[in-house]
Amino acid sequence: MESKIKELREEAAKAVNELSKSLNDLNDVRVKYLGKKGELTSLLRGLGQISAEDRPRIGQIVNDARQEIEKIIAEKNEILKAKAMEEKLAKEKIDVTLDGRRPPHGHIHPLTYTLLEIKNIFMRMGFSVEEGPEIEKDYYNFEALNLPKDHPARDMQDSFYITEDILMRSQTSPVQARTMESHEPNSPIRMIAPGRVYRRDDYDATHSPMFTQVEGLVIDKGISFADLKGTLVNFLQQIFDKNVKVRFRPSFFPFTEPSAEVDISCVMCKGAGCRVCKGTGWLEILGSGMVHPRVLEMSGYDPKKVSGFAFGLGVERITMLKYGIDDLRLFYDNDTRLLKQF
Ligand SMILES: [Zn+2]
Repeated sequence: MESKIKELREEAAKAVNELSKSLNDLNDVRVKYLGKKGELTSLLRGLGQISAEDRPRIGQIVNDARQEIEKIIAEKNEILKAKAMEEKLAKEKIDVTLDGRRPPHGHIHPLTYTLLEIKNIFMRMGFSVEEGPEIEKDYYNFEALNLPKDHPARDMQDSFYITEDILMRSQTSPVQARTMESHEPNSPIRMIAPGRVYRRDDYDATHSPMFTQVEGLVIDKGISFADLKGTLVNFLQQIFDKNVKVRFRPSFFPFTEPSAEVDISCVMCKGAGCRVCKGTGWLEILGSGMVHPRVLEMSGYDPKKVSGFAFGLGVERITMLKYGIDDLRLFYDNDTRLLKQF
């Protein structure tokens, strides 16, 4: 009996000190030796079979063993608890020397960048920047611009209609009509209207059903075609290159008379002829003209007292030419490889 107890004590000590690697292991040892069905407990139960003479001594030995095992388990328990805490701290430690994680920086979109440049050039020339709704009344989009319902020139702009009388604006010119209406009749205006416009169109390298336009309007006493030329040549030489050549070709727009397409010498080949300018050396860049007297009248202005000029340009086209981008769809793809370059 005595040797059995000694053996058990040594076995338990070994299980605690050498084999228990975690608090769970230690608990298993406790159950195995000290639990209700544990080995030491069953030894105690066996005391009844021992002679009355030996019982107190053996009982004492079993109790001593029990206390000793409890003690080493308690000691080991402290050690393992401290170890578990250390591991937890090590695992959760924040390395303050690591660089922070930065969110990726955005970039100004090339179209926004060009639009800012355009606005700045015109604002330096004393123009105001006006805005208007993208969902527009047919009246402002067409009729106030000398395009009554049956006018064949409406076919040049196949538009998105929401109802018979409301559409996605096909040009930013309605802002001009709205601005004239909001002014005292015959008071001077010098404005640009930038914004998105919508036309039913293909989606390919040079077309999109949505694009960005800037239109301009100047009205005052004695405004002539010379003012139109001076303003637009000055603008084009600032936005492209001070040496760019500009030419005016007669054209037709319902809201201007006379009207002119404006070309610049090709920015790719400097006028020698290349694929971009289709060998001509010239690039069509904007439309312009003297405001039609009828348009002035419709907005309450008197064409006998004031005159004006208007123009419109595409921001996508100017951006493509400025930066040598050959596919318009790149602007709308959200590909950061393009955006990062601006
Ligand atoms: Zn060219």
